[in-house]
Amino acid sequence: MFKKILIANRGEIAIRVMRACRELGISTVAVYSEADKNALFAKYADEAVFIGPSPSSQSYLKIENIINAARETGAEAVHPGYGFLSENTHFASACEENGIVFIGPPSHAIDAMGSKITARQTMLAAGVPIVPGIEEGITDPEDAAKVAENIGYPIILKPAAGGGGIGMKIVQSSDELQPALASSQSVARNAFGDDTIYIEKYLTEPRHIEFQILADKKGKTVYVSDRECSIQRRHQKLIEESPSPVMTEELREKMGSIAVKAAKAIGYVSAGTVEFMYSRGDFYFLEMNTRLQVEHPITEMVTGVDLAKEQIRIAAGYPLGYDQSDMRIRGWAIECRINAEDPLNDFSPSPGKIKRYRSPGGPGIRVDSGVYTGYVIPPYYDSLISKLVALGKDRNEAIARMERALYEYIIVGVKTNIVFHKAVLRNTRFRSGDINTHFIKEENIIESVKSIAAEDYKKGASLASALGADSRQIAAISAAVGSYLSQQKAGEKS
Ligand code: ADP
Repeated sequence: MFKKILIANRGEIAIRVMRACRELGISTVAVYSEADKNALFAKYADEAVFIGPSPSSQSYLKIENIINAARETGAEAVHPGYGFLSENTHFASACEENGIVFIGPPSHAIDAMGSKITARQTMLAAGVPIVPGIEEGITDPEDAAKVAENIGYPIILKPAAGGGGIGMKIVQSSDELQPALASSQSVARNAFGDDTIYIEKYLTEPRHIEFQILADKKGKTVYVSDRECSIQRRHQKLIEESPSPVMTEELREKMGSIAVKAAKAIGYVSAGTVEFMYSRGDFYFLEMNTRLQVEHPITEMVTGVDLAKEQIRIAAGYPLGYDQSDMRIRGWAIECRINAEDPLNDFSPSPGKIKRYRSPGGPGIRVDSGVYTGYVIPPYYDSLISKLVALGKDRNEAIARMERALYEYIIVGVKTNIVFHKAVLRNTRFRSGDINTHFIKEENIIESVKSIAAEDYKKGASLASALGADSRQIAAISAAVGSYLSQQKAGEKS
């Protein structure tokens, strides 16, 4: 087993990986930027190396600095987390060339899934069903028009090099196509340095269902659990659950086996996720993420498999200690991504100082975070404060626990989306499991966010006045009830 691992990432995921290392008796090296010098992950590590004055995400993208940090500290392996360099073949190769083990798949497997177009071609050849569309890139508007006509509107334009929902455009009819193509190309050029676009049929009421897989170096590949990730805003996940409410044993076996087939087709090793769009009993390969996902904890909660530790064990050459038939799902897990953002202002980011912080606990609750009271959330990175996970014996208990935990969660100083999560969890359609990727719009969740925020504030204020508090204290106590508006007010006053 490795003695020392460098974690080439920041925030909650850096801590998540360091926790796995600590349990395995491996020492850890953090790398940090100027903006992260007071971050928890840099303090949690056994050693921390400063890798860049740049306050932006650039510091975590400088391959040379990270490799140097690993060499200087004698780290034998590097864990890339998610985002940043986790799906960068140059980084994986640079590690390989410097005799450092990259904790993830071989660079050729990252490559195979790196371009969405190549991935579609490979999956098609392997007999994996893909979303109807084309397998070549498009730049010419006239070609695009012909292809769109063939596929049939609505269609979706996607940057081949894309990720995070960036640059994707839904086109309802032919007159919208040209401006949409131009805009998608320009976003793609800026974000990915590559303006290749391709076209898929836009499925109207799909669910996003994905499969966690694990593959060792001896050729064994298993699927671990399915995850439903349909609660999204701007094509980005906000709430995930495992298993999916539509899953049956039969469907799990069918989709899971196809996920394994997809992984095997590219010689995959390590933890990975095969994403599908599911619509009325049919499912189609969307993409494969060749890394640990943000939402991996829900799989860990329902299966008892520690995915971060498994990645490290696999990278060190250990075989998986179980077969597909040993894999069991027990209970139900839900994850809410707690972001520093304003759900009432188009989810715009709300970085700043956390003036008061108290995370929930009790039965079935897991909080993965990297913040503390007094911590300043920098504006340069994503707005994730924590991942709140609830495990219950069934879906109803998981929902009840999550609602209870959201009620206990106190974050003062920055705006958060806690009240948004409350609104979704309270929704009767969500509770029945009848969801799709348009759920937030279809159910007009933002309207319920407003009323729950007002309700929460009143609750806090009446509690405060019953206690004989003055107006300043009322604001503070309202904040303690975990409301959105009160957090704002307490933030303004303190
Ligand atoms: P990214 O890699 O940028 O995250 P994905 O291809 O994984 O993009 O898609 C992200 C989300 O966009 C999906 O979960 C889904 O909500 C929506 N989406 C993508 N492709 C389609 C499609 N063909 N039809 C309907 N929705 C889609």
